[in-house]
Amino acid sequence: TVDWQGKHVTVAGLGVSGIPAARALHERGAIVTVVNDGDDERARAQAAELEALGITVRLGDGATLPPSTELVVTAPGWQPDKPLFLAAAEAGVDIWGDVELAWRLRGTNGREAAPWLAVTGTNGKTTTVRMLASILEAAGLRTAAVGNIGVSLLDAVLGEQEYDVLAVELSSYQLHWAPSLRAHSAAVLNLAPDHLDWHGSMEAYAADKGRVYEGNTVACVYNAADPATEELVREADVEEGCRAIGFTLGTPGPSQLGVVDGILVDRAFVANRQKQAQELAEVSDVNPPAPHNIANALAAAALARAFGVEPAAVRDGLRAFRPDAHRIEHVADIGEVAYVDDSKATNTHATEASLAAYDSIVWIAGGLAKGATFDELVTGAAKRLRGVVLMGADRALIREALTRHAPEVPVVDLDRTDTGAMSEAVEHAARLARPGDTVLLAPACASMDMFTNYNKRGEAFADAVRAHAEKSA
Ligand code: ADP
Repeated sequence: TVDWQGKHVTVAGLGVSGIPAARALHERGAIVTVVNDGDDERARAQAAELEALGITVRLGDGATLPPSTELVVTAPGWQPDKPLFLAAAEAGVDIWGDVELAWRLRGTNGREAAPWLAVTGTNGKTTTVRMLASILEAAGLRTAAVGNIGVSLLDAVLGEQEYDVLAVELSSYQLHWAPSLRAHSAAVLNLAPDHLDWHGSMEAYAADKGRVYEGNTVACVYNAADPATEELVREADVEEGCRAIGFTLGTPGPSQLGVVDGILVDRAFVANRQKQAQELAEVSDVNPPAPHNIANALAAAALARAFGVEPAAVRDGLRAFRPDAHRIEHVADIGEVAYVDDSKATNTHATEASLAAYDSIVWIAGGLAKGATFDELVTGAAKRLRGVVLMGADRALIREALTRHAPEVPVVDLDRTDTGAMSEAVEHAARLARPGDTVLLAPACASMDMFTNYNKRGEAFADAVRAHAEKSA
């Protein structure tokens, strides 16, 4: 525990994590200064509220480190090579992210500190954490899905509600700034290049993800189909007796969870030593039962089992789980064509998973590529593409990959980057589709060239599909 009384803490960034951090530290007696790059109307209003409490706020200068600083607490998204952090490193001042702060403050409000089951990975984090929370709830445990997802960790840790266990989603940014986090058990779902501009390299990105395993006490859950995740387990420094537990879509080995004849089975946590495997649930209990999502369910089940949850609760929890919006969300069936919104597929790895989930697809894609290449994605999906509709700033990159690897697939290039392009895209897609096909919005790109965020992009798609349904009725 830290003695906060009179400690000079600099909080980097107003915003969803900075404001509660500043308040919590101020309440504990720290002398808090918030530094923020922006100086707009909203920032001024937020600053005024904090200043009324006695917190110092410096707007329009997030780069200079106040000389008295003994600790920096940062919003997770701030780039590690910012001058503020370089100055802190030079001065030997620690830098904590929102997760580190929550970890250090848990249990300081008179409540028992609940253990954390942590999930990270390039894709599938939110889904897996929600599945996990659903399973823990089905087991009668007091829990919440928190972290890089709706509820902030700090709120969960310092709030009124008591928890038996927390299902925590952690991004690579958050892990980068969380040196002393020690989860009960943790899972790395997969590792594919993403956010490399922030981390600097694939190695640095993987190393930050791998921190989630550090000091685990019961289980480090890895993806048997993704050797890089198992490698991270091997490199981690864990508590004695902590086990490496794999998940696989195939038949599980010992210490693994997997799938046998349409049944999710557990060979890792088998109570009766005579027994080979414990049946958990049917594949059809997973919503939707696409391969990548069964992997998510197995990872969630592994963490729950590591916490001692019974098989029946795994099944009930998976059955009760409903996916979040814009994640392979079924919008409508029109004339025997399914329309599916996977706007959250913002990188090629996620898009590969959703394209693998359907046999015959009219694919709507495009947006900001964030430096990605599309050759592998297009090669893998070519046989299943009925047609493609492209829009957004970097659509040419996808079009060129299609020309190289799938020249026979019809492509409509909308040559548009305005929001209205979505309804034209849906009209074209509907024309290309045959009965039994799926029209799939899985952009493989970020949305910010055309929309505020992926939610808005998904809503635009759903609106366009409904408009199309009315026209065809
Ligand atoms: P995250 O929180 O990591 O962004 P989500 O659960 O929100 O992950 O899913 C984001 C997208 O990633 C989904 O829409 C889907 O396209 C894809 N996805 C989900 N799970 C996986 C997985 N296990 N492997 C690959 N892609 C996945």
